[in-house]
Amino acid sequence: MKITELMISSEKVAHVNMNNPLEHAMLVLIKSGYSAIPVVDTTFKLKGLISMSLILDSILGIERIEVERLENKVVEDVMNEEVPYIHENESLSKGMRLSIDYPFLCVVNDEGIFTGILTRRAILKHMNRYLHEMNRESVRPT
Ligand code: AMP
Repeated sequence: MKITELMISSEKVAHVNMNNPLEHAMLVLIKSGYSAIPVVDTTFKLKGLISMSLILDSILGIERIEVERLENKVVEDVMNEEVPYIHENESLSKGMRLSIDYPFLCVVNDEGIFTGILTRRAILKHMNRYLHEMNRESVRPT
């Protein structure tokens, strides 16, 4: 099976643009309920990941969360540029190996365009089905 067959395609993935105000990213994260989402540029190239903890950490004062600082920041100022990603033509077994450490991987094409995400959940679901089928095969009478 190919990565593209298991991934959630980018149209269905909650994401933000690196030029968006930080407040907008906060709204998308809260409304989607996801802890981290991909960041793209205007050409849809993958640029990073943004999470609620990165946002809150960026406005953390000595004694309180300084919400007013949100106004002056955009996603690019705060995002993590180290994104776990995989090329869409790479093997599913590489995706499986990488997803040991990450709940999801961003998927990119030859141009670095963000095409979707491969979640650990989708990989486990696929593995589960595969193992069940193997078991059934092995107990089937010949
Ligand atoms: P799940 O496989 O649903 O447990 O998702 C694992 C992680 O993948 C979530 O915490 C999100 O960070 C990310 N994720 C899954 N689905 C989406 C989506 N549709 N949009 C954005 N991020 C997602």
